[in-house]
Amino acid sequence: MIRPILKHGDQLLHERAAIVGAITPEISQLVDDMVETMYAAPGIGLAAPQVGVALRLFVVDVSVGRDANQLIVMINPEFVDRDGMQLEEEGCLSVPGFNATVVRPSRVVIKGLDRAGEPQQREGTGLLARAFQHEMDHLDGTLFVDRLRGIKRDLIVRKIKKMTRAGKW
Ligand SMILES: [Zn+2]
Repeated sequence: MIRPILKHGDQLLHERAAIVGAITPEISQLVDDMVETMYAAPGIGLAAPQVGVALRLFVVDVSVGRDANQLIVMINPEFVDRDGMQLEEEGCLSVPGFNATVVRPSRVVIKGLDRAGEPQQREGTGLLARAFQHEMDHLDGTLFVDRLRGIKRDLIVRKIKKMTRAGKW
């Protein structure tokens, strides 16, 4: 089932999410729904808070469904290693219509549980590293807009507020 995606300004997106206690049937259903919602959007990643569930869980697929081997489900993820630097345009399904250049490490290693509850460790470089960090941020209530400085951030936030007032957000 495709779930509605919350947008910037919804309080749940700006709060820290809680650890997943156990892989219950509800969690399995949530994972299925998140994958479906991500592909339908379409997007390369989706974190549980974006569909209104404040849990530490995300899905990523940089092939957007073209290659089933690239789908990654990460539950209770933690950083193991981060290095390098990349500067690329970034967007977010919860901030539709806006993009900005965000500085991120170019390589990350994260560990967590897969959808069966088995431990897994994944390394990402380039786009995958960026996707991992973007989704990890969601679990801590941080959106890419929060990583921007000064004028660029103010401009986006101001436009969102204006659209919200006009009932267009
Ligand atoms: Zn996002």
